[in-house]
Amino acid sequence: MSTPAIDCKSLCKGYMSGTTHVEVLHGLDLQAHCGEMLMIAGPSGSGKTTLLSLICGILRADSGWVSLFGTDIAEMGERSLTAFRAATVGFVFQQFQLIPTLTVLENASLPLILTGTGFGAAKHAALAMLDRLGIAHLAKRQPAMLSGGQQQRVAIARALVHEPRLLICDEPTSALDSESGAATMALLKEAALATDRCVVVVTHDARIFSFANRIATMADGRVISISTTPPSHP
Ligand code: ADP
Ligand code: MG
Repeated sequence: MSTPAIDCKSLCKGYMSGTTHVEVLHGLDLQAHCGEMLMIAGPSGSGKTTLLSLICGILRADSGWVSLFGTDIAEMGERSLTAFRAATVGFVFQQFQLIPTLTVLENASLPLILTGTGFGAAKHAALAMLDRLGIAHLAKRQPAMLSGGQQQRVAIARALVHEPRLLICDEPTSALDSESGAATMALLKEAALATDRCVVVVTHDARIFSFANRIATMADGRVISISTTPPSHP
C-alpha cells in the first residue's frame, strides 16, 4: 500500500493545568490517505484541535509519532519543521482569520510572500487561485465588505495558494449557514483534493458529513470508530 499522507501512532499529549498534568490524547492512532477527505468528529473537548496541532507540528507530542507523506516530523528540528510545514500544509479555520486591513488579494498572497516569493509573482498566483474559486472580482475589497461564505472562500484561496499537499481545516463551516457551508465543502473538495493530496476536516457539523470519504470519531482523546458512511446521530 502507498505511503499514508498522515500516519499517527500511539500519540500522547497532555497540558499542565495549574500543577497537574491533564492527559488529552491517550495513545491515538490514525491514518489519512492520499486522495481522501478525512473528517474528524467528536464532542467539544475530545482533543480534535490538539490532534491537528500535533499533525502539523505546531505542538509536539509527549510521546508517539507523526509522519506526513513518509517524513517523520517528530525527528525534525524547529527550523526545518517550520519550513516543511509552510511548504506542505495549508490551514482553514472556523473564524476565517483574514487580516482586516489587507485586501482579499493581499490576504490570499500571504503564504507565498512569507515563503519568499516576490510580490508580483505572489499576487499573480493569488489572483489565479481567487479566479479558480470564483471570487477574482472581489480581489480589491477588504474582508469586512464580504459575506461569511465569501470570507471563507478567501481563506481557502489563502490556504491553497502555495499548493500544499495537505489541507487542514478546523471547523471550517460552523460560522456559515447551511447553504454557504455546503458550497464551501464542495469547493474544498474540488480545489484541494488530488491523488497525491489529502484534506482533513475537523467538524461536528453533521450537515457536511456527506462530503467525507471517511469519518473518524473521537472521544476522550482516542479515535473510537472510523466509518465510511456518515453517522445518522452524530
Ligand atoms: P476539541 O478541539 O475537540 O474541542 P481540544 O483539543 O481543543 O478539543 O481540547 C482538548 C482538551 O484539552 C480540553 O479539555 C481543553 O480544555 C484542553 N486544552 C486544550 N488546549 C489547552 C492548553 N493550551 N492548555 C491547557 N489545556 C488545554
Ligand atoms: Mg477544537
